Amino acid sequence: MDVNEAWFARAQQVIPGGVNSPVRAFRSVGGTPRFLRRGEGPFVWDEAGVRYIDYVGSWGPAIAGHAHPKIVEAVRAAACDGLSFGAPTVREVEFAERLCALLPSLEMVRLVSSGTEATMSAIRLARGVTGRPLLVKFEGCYHGHADSLLVKAGSGALTFGHPSSAGVPEAIAQQTVVLPYNDSAAVEALFAERGDEIAAVIVEPIAGNMNLVRPVPGFLEALRRLCDRAGAVLIFDEVMTGFRVGLTGVQGLTGVTPDLTTLGKVVGGGMPLAAFGGKRALMEHLAPLGPVYQAGTLSGSPVAVAAGLAALDLITQPGFYDALEANAAKLVAGLTQAAAAAGVPFAADSVGGMFGIYFAAKVPTSYAEVTACDGERFKRFFHGMLARGHYFAPSAFEAGFVSAAHGDAEIAATIAAAEAVFAELAR
Ligand code: PLP
Repeated sequence: MDVNEAWFARAQQVIPGGVNSPVRAFRSVGGTPRFLRRGEGPFVWDEAGVRYIDYVGSWGPAIAGHAHPKIVEAVRAAACDGLSFGAPTVREVEFAERLCALLPSLEMVRLVSSGTEATMSAIRLARGVTGRPLLVKFEGCYHGHADSLLVKAGSGALTFGHPSSAGVPEAIAQQTVVLPYNDSAAVEALFAERGDEIAAVIVEPIAGNMNLVRPVPGFLEALRRLCDRAGAVLIFDEVMTGFRVGLTGVQGLTGVTPDLTTLGKVVGGGMPLAAFGGKRALMEHLAPLGPVYQAGTLSGSPVAVAAGLAALDLITQPGFYDALEANAAKLVAGLTQAAAAAGVPFAADSVGGMFGIYFAAKVPTSYAEVTACDGERFKRFFHGMLARGHYFAPSAFEAGFVSAAHGDAEIAATIAAAEAVFAELAR
């Protein structure tokens, strides 16, 4: 038994499945999760001392690389001033001001500690403001693990949703309708039938939880138009894409402005920090100004906000996203070329610092197309790369991430390893 296996066995005695978030357990690829001891720049090291080039980046936050000295120093300094007060601080005001200045949809913002809290609170706000119950979400999008969101599609497009997790009451799931991503006609039909019941539409404006799936032209615009017409709230869940695809989110890239936006991951610089915000007229319905309750003992944690401010300093440097985007594009082009040379059906895509790899002939545009990719080939690719020191997400349904700390040498090494792995896959 190697050291990772030993820790995994021990972990499973005291932590369900040995992990504190299911995807970490490697269930969809098999094998033993690596227990990570340390990270620096583009690298992580496991408990056996093996170094990996990391394309998970803590599932998105590590955009400047692991343990960036500026972020670590900001955290150290803030911690020395006191870990938490449960009272307002100057830093959180500065942070909120900077978020509002950067993202087109934000006039006001509230800080929370996880993406789940951000989406859950945004949905409560939308329901509170509209006085309507229904939530519309899309197949393949993930918005955290609040009850209203752990819902899968019913049998017909317009039927009520069903719980996708035990413990979610049917009565709650029935307040969520799940539609196919990129299917404007399905949204239009639902609005035609039940528009006056719909509180909100929540969408990953570029999906990153069914691998990477872009919105087809006109999809986000259709959501905007239908919400406007029906008086429903449009929520862009930019927990993953916010400051990952560029400095102004998908809303900046597409010019479609949501009513509410949720943020997480990159905004916290690696600390537990997330946010939701939007139009002043909506946000002023939150307690203590309005009747929609929302709170948190550690919300706006001074240490987390210090990390977030330091991360914002880094990503607002001129050229930051050009370099990040070039890294992701180089990786994707190299992998695609290597797969083609080996004759393995493969496609890849990237936006800013996030990328998708698909064992399929073309880049998918729906959850159905993502699930039709060759999962067995993905597993073999994943393990082949891991064995060679390249740490990709242990699931075919997750987007990958590069950081600004990934250099040409790391990306070239990963492509070289992939050439060998694709050659094995072709056999
Ligand atoms: N929304 C999106 C788009 C996400 O990708 C995630 C997490 O992966 C969440 C919400 C939930 O965030 P958290 O895991 O911080 O609760």
